[in-house]
Order: sequence, then structure tokens, then C-alpha cells
Amino acid sequence: MPARPKRQKPRATVRPDSALRSRARKILNRLAKAHPDWGPTLRFSSPLELLVATILAAQAQDERINEVTRVLFTKYRSPADYAAAPAGVLERDIKATGFYNQKAKSLRAMAHGLLEEFDGEVPSDMDGLTRLHGVGRKTASIVLGAAFGVPAVAVDRHVARVAERLRLDRAGPDIEASLRTIYPKKDWIKATWCFVLHGRRVCRPTPLCPICPINDLCPYPKKTKTLPAALRSNLQVPRRPAAARRPR
Ligand code: SF4
Repeated sequence: MPARPKRQKPRATVRPDSALRSRARKILNRLAKAHPDWGPTLRFSSPLELLVATILAAQAQDERINEVTRVLFTKYRSPADYAAAPAGVLERDIKATGFYNQKAKSLRAMAHGLLEEFDGEVPSDMDGLTRLHGVGRKTASIVLGAAFGVPAVAVDRHVARVAERLRLDRAGPDIEASLRTIYPKKDWIKATWCFVLHGRRVCRPTPLCPICPINDLCPYPKKTKTLPAALRSNLQVPRRPAAARRPR
């Protein structure tokens, strides 16, 4: 008989104290300075385009998605265009994004959902967005924040890694709830994109701690002790201030 999977104990919500909030605020200020270009990296000019680009971006680099959508968006302008795309054509048009059969299926189902439930308009609330096929909280939060300016925290693998290493993941039952608890609503979108860029550029799976602009605010400032030589000359990330206290 197969072993029963262990039931995960839900993490308790811990009210963030003032020290945690203060450290989190400093982290965000520092990251916003280090990554002044924070914001969505997918190219779009409407909520529908961002929704499509975000669905395509699963398991793919944003640069590749932007190359594909540059052409795609001139051909597919409305949900009806995706819903009516003949079998094989949409697949061919998005082939370069990888997993194109599954993604084409998601785009068609999402487009049908928009036409049937929302008169062809992308909804501007979490409930509506997550009712669409292939749209989870992460995708919905990206669309809410970037296309509608609605405060939301989107947790991708970069945000998750950075939040965990900085121990900002324990103030709620999950990382999204934790960041929403720690940061004021007005900072949710900024925190999302600053964490994304920091996770892509510095706090990578093998982190670049020696040049990290927040390593005095991180519980693991020496996770990587030396910087690969090849990277030293290429990276232009501000160093941390010389004298600063370590977090508790
Ligand atoms: S010091 Fe290292 S582990 Fe901590 S946030 Fe910076 S890069 Fe990540």
C-alpha cells in the first residue's frame, strides 16, 4: 500500500513587529534604487496583451516572449481572434515560446472564457481573472498590478526565493500573504518587481552576495562568499553602505 502523503501543517500568521517592518522598508528602498527600471518586463499595450504574454511566459524568458508577441499581437487583436484560431495555426504562431500545444490550449480556453463570461473584456479583479482557464493568482496579480494599477503581490520563483532568503515569508500562511502583511498596499506592485529583478540579477539560485546592495539587511549575507571573476566587471549593482547593522 502506498504511503500516505504527510499533511502539511498550515503556517501560522505572525504579526510583523516594527523591526521586521523597518528592515523590509529599508530592503525595498534599497532595491528600488538598485533597480530603478523596476516594472513589468513583458511588452504589452492592453490588459489582454499582458494576459496573453504572461500565459506564454511560463517556462520561458521574457525576451523570447517579447520577440514572439511583437508579431503575434499584430495578428491577434481580440479574444475572438484567439478563440477562432484554426487548429495548428495558433500553435505555430507561438511555437518559439515552448510548450506551445498546452499554451495554445490555455489561450483558446481563456479567450472563450472572456467571450462567454465577460463580454470579451479582461476583468479587473482577482475573482474574475482566476475564473479564466490557465490563470492562477500569480498571473492574475501581474495583470492587476501592471495593466490596471490594482495593488497586488505576484509571487514567481524569484520573488519566492528572495522573500525566503530575507525571511520575509513568515508573516502569513504563504509568501503572498506574508508580503501583503509586511508591506503597505501602496508598495505591493513595487515590491513585486523589485524582488523579481533582484532575484534575476543578484539573488539568483547561486546568489551574488558580495555585490548585493542589501546584504547588511539579509540573514544570509555570505551565502556566496566570492564573486565569479567573469561577473565582476559586468555587473553594475550598488554596493551596500560600509557601516550597517546586521538584521537579527
Ligand atoms: S546577501 Fe545574498 S542571499 Fe542575501 S539577499 Fe543578497 S544575494 Fe540574496
